[in-house]
Amino acid sequence: MNDSVCDDFPDGMIWLVGAGPGDPELLTRKAERLIRQATVVFHDALVGQGVLALIPRGTRLVHVGKRSGRHCRDQKTIDRLIVDAALGGERVVRLKGGDPSIFGRSTEEIDAARAAGIAVAVCPGVTAASAAAAGLGLSLTLRGHARKLVLVTAHARAGEPLVLDWQALADPDATLAVYMGKAAAADVSRNLIAAGMPAHTPVALVESASLPQERQFHTRLDLLPLAARTALGDGPALVLIGGAMAPRDGALQDRQGAVAQSRAAAPEEGFARQG
Ligand code: SAH
Repeated sequence: MNDSVCDDFPDGMIWLVGAGPGDPELLTRKAERLIRQATVVFHDALVGQGVLALIPRGTRLVHVGKRSGRHCRDQKTIDRLIVDAALGGERVVRLKGGDPSIFGRSTEEIDAARAAGIAVAVCPGVTAASAAAAGLGLSLTLRGHARKLVLVTAHARAGEPLVLDWQALADPDATLAVYMGKAAAADVSRNLIAAGMPAHTPVALVESASLPQERQFHTRLDLLPLAARTALGDGPALVLIGGAMAPRDGALQDRQGAVAQSRAAAPEEGFARQG
């Protein structure tokens, strides 16, 4: 592939590019080409270091990350920055963790670009739920357990309550992938159980999926708040809920070892660590 050919990336254009869950090998080939062709890359906090390392030295790199409680730039500022860069004739990559279309505020940026008459396109990426399931060796859909996959965010605006249709989410035939769910784990657990989901429903927690520091925990819905509070660290984490998330027999050996370890560390904790 010739990086200097930019038919689909002329000066003054914006590409919203999915950076995947962190592992640079999970970047699409197209994403890699686009970040090499860009003259400026605006990236989120969650874009992996290994992905950022692929950006050529001469390319301007602008961190516009938002992590909960630590907002660097508000969305309107980001919209303006990327539009201004494109209007100035730059080839702009807006690099977002995972897939840009999943809890990525991509619509605002597409609308802002279009309103300014700027060409804009999207390059998809591997979303965190896919990477988390891959790490667990589990399938997000599973015959007899999960005919649906529901992606939901448990992130509420600061000071506002979490409003979700818990009745609809407490679906025994779905896998629920909760993005930004760490802080809201207690709310998620309480509300799903109140809506009729069994307390023993399997839950998997995956932190930093696809990265060397990835950690996985298996627990159950009623113990989710404890696990989220005590087991998870600082990395981004996904909460996966549903029958398809039960550990499989093949992993038993490892799991027993992990249970023993985590019990030794914290005897009252009701979850098992993997990996
Ligand atoms: N567009 C992204 C999601 C952005 S919302 C995507 O498609 O993956 C940010 C949330 O995604 C985090 O709070 C976390 O819940 C989840 N997330 C992102 N990267 C992750 C990773 N490597 N491991 C686990 N969860 C991750």
